[in-house]
Amino acid sequence: MIDFTEQKERLIEYYCQMGYVKDQSSIEAFRCVPRENFVPPNQISLAYIDRPLSLMNTGQTISAPHMTVMILDYLELKAGLKILEVGAGSGYQAALIASAICSDPLNKGHVYTVEIVPELIKFAQNNLKKSGLNEDVTVISGDGTLGYPEQAPYDRIILTAAGPQVPPPLMEQLKIGGILVIPLGRPGLWQQMTRIRKLDENKIKEELLSSVAFVPLRGKYGY
Ligand code: SAH
Repeated sequence: MIDFTEQKERLIEYYCQMGYVKDQSSIEAFRCVPRENFVPPNQISLAYIDRPLSLMNTGQTISAPHMTVMILDYLELKAGLKILEVGAGSGYQAALIASAICSDPLNKGHVYTVEIVPELIKFAQNNLKKSGLNEDVTVISGDGTLGYPEQAPYDRIILTAAGPQVPPPLMEQLKIGGILVIPLGRPGLWQQMTRIRKLDENKIKEELLSSVAFVPLRGKYGY
């Protein structure tokens, strides 16, 4: 077993210095969740190198750690929220979110995360179990651009794959007052991480957050 504490603390210090993360609870979630449990076994030594890692031979990636922590800030998380993620991949982002919203036993949130690549579903489930977070995160097999109506509406929706548009079913499944975060733009180039607030049934507020590089969103409303 490698002890990653020092490498992890160095990354945290760097993120704080660079102003990547502002919310202390995002840092705490990063500290608590072992990223080494979510990277493919042959890449464990790279768990705290600040870059994306490929997920076996699926063509998919687990995002760089700084991106995953920035997403926590973008989502404005708090205890008790119900969250939908599109693109479970390794399960790591869902685990970070769960750690941020489930720490209060009297006000526990839940993460539902949808994955379209069949071999990643078991991988994500096993990783979450290893990390003791399988009761706080449900991994669902399917096309996440259709959302997961069974548990709608959601306080927050996060897409971790880049799409051409906000899938309409996701907007419908977002609560009024809720936040949806999505990388918008063409795959292979930079995309714009975009935050959308649903102010009421017909009114949204859109903000551009940062330039990012994500794998393409597939499915009915993807590429
Ligand atoms: N959040 C993941 C990394 C995401 S990589 C993590 O923390 O590891 C993007 C993931 O989105 C890939 O696993 C890809 O298969 C998945 N994906 C792409 N389009 C999708 C869709 N329409 N529905 C569900 N998952 C999708």
